[in-house]
Amino acid sequence: MTSRILMHVGPSIGNYDVLSAAVQPNIGFASPEFNSAMKNSLEGFRYVTGSDSSYTPFILPGSGTVAMESVMSFIPRGSRILVVSNGVFGDRWEAIMSRYPVILKVLRAEAGKAVSTGEIEHEVSSGRYFAVAMTQVETSTGVRLDVESVAKAVRNHVDLVIVDGVASIGGETMKASHWGIDVCLTASQKALGAQAGAGLLVASPSAMEKLKGESTSGYFADLRNWSDIMNKFLAGGGGYFATPPIGTVFSIQKSMDLIRSETMEARVSRHEICSQAFRAGINHLGLEILASEKLRSNTVSGVMVDGINIADFLQRCMKKGVEFGAGVHPSVRDRYFRVGHMGWVQPAHIITALNAIESSLEEMGKKVDRGSALAAGEIFSRYPGI
Ligand code: PMP
Repeated sequence: MTSRILMHVGPSIGNYDVLSAAVQPNIGFASPEFNSAMKNSLEGFRYVTGSDSSYTPFILPGSGTVAMESVMSFIPRGSRILVVSNGVFGDRWEAIMSRYPVILKVLRAEAGKAVSTGEIEHEVSSGRYFAVAMTQVETSTGVRLDVESVAKAVRNHVDLVIVDGVASIGGETMKASHWGIDVCLTASQKALGAQAGAGLLVASPSAMEKLKGESTSGYFADLRNWSDIMNKFLAGGGGYFATPPIGTVFSIQKSMDLIRSETMEARVSRHEICSQAFRAGINHLGLEILASEKLRSNTVSGVMVDGINIADFLQRCMKKGVEFGAGVHPSVRDRYFRVGHMGWVQPAHIITALNAIESSLEEMGKKVDRGSALAAGEIFSRYPGI
């Protein structure tokens, strides 16, 4: 039996120990084992996001979208918010926030590009904004926004700097405290490589102050309901507001253990090398990457392939044992596919992925220059033991 390699954009390549940690017999959410798993996971998340101990971490049942929506807890009625959107998931900020009594302005970039720091700085300095919301890696295109430079540019103009790191945290550098980011968030199933089922976020002291004011958010994702119990977990105890994703938390705990022993620096560099090697192979095949050269992320690549039926191509790759994602950006949807090289990605996954791409294209009559795996291997040979 061939087990399939999952190189979708999240969930992505699994790790047996991390995924199987979710299976826990007879463990309740009030048990000491669960309390300790929450504490370790919350502290681990501070580490992964570069947040110091003044930040409050949260783990919520649900997914990245719940974590995004919970951000409304910090935002008073009538606030002006600037959304930076480089694609479909940037637009999700607009979709969420437009349900609430706030005033939005959206800056957009075309597929494969990013809104520039200069444009964002110009906008926040000419209008009074309460918050800026952005996306570190735009999953629909693989574009990485330089959130460090944006955060530094807007820091003195707005109360809250908010980053969706769903497709990046765990595979890209994030230094929330140093970069002046108030809120950053992700989902358990992406570059943390744990079971699906949780949204995670960290909030700065100044974000937490905002919870003292009036809320415009709904009930479940209002962080006022969750902050006391998160503090109790951090202090070694426990608490209940709504049932937590018990198995997923054990899986997150295991992921955090492995991340700490690998170290974030080594993890980010493994992601960087794997993504570079993947792109070298794609380049060898004569294909283009959707994201502009300087904006390519460690975690997601969009690969442009004109003149073939992408659904058929993805099926063929799947039969060869590798699953990729279809394109979702409306302006290029049928002309590309997406590859997740995140979480527990290793050189062998990249080589197998390139082989599946190369031979599927050939089967479909596309002229390709064979040997993409060798081009990737050449990069890996420079980094033995990653
Ligand atoms: N933001 C980004 C950047 C994402 O990639 C995703 C998931 N693809 C989401 C938000 C939504 O996360 P979820 O599907 O876990 O709700």
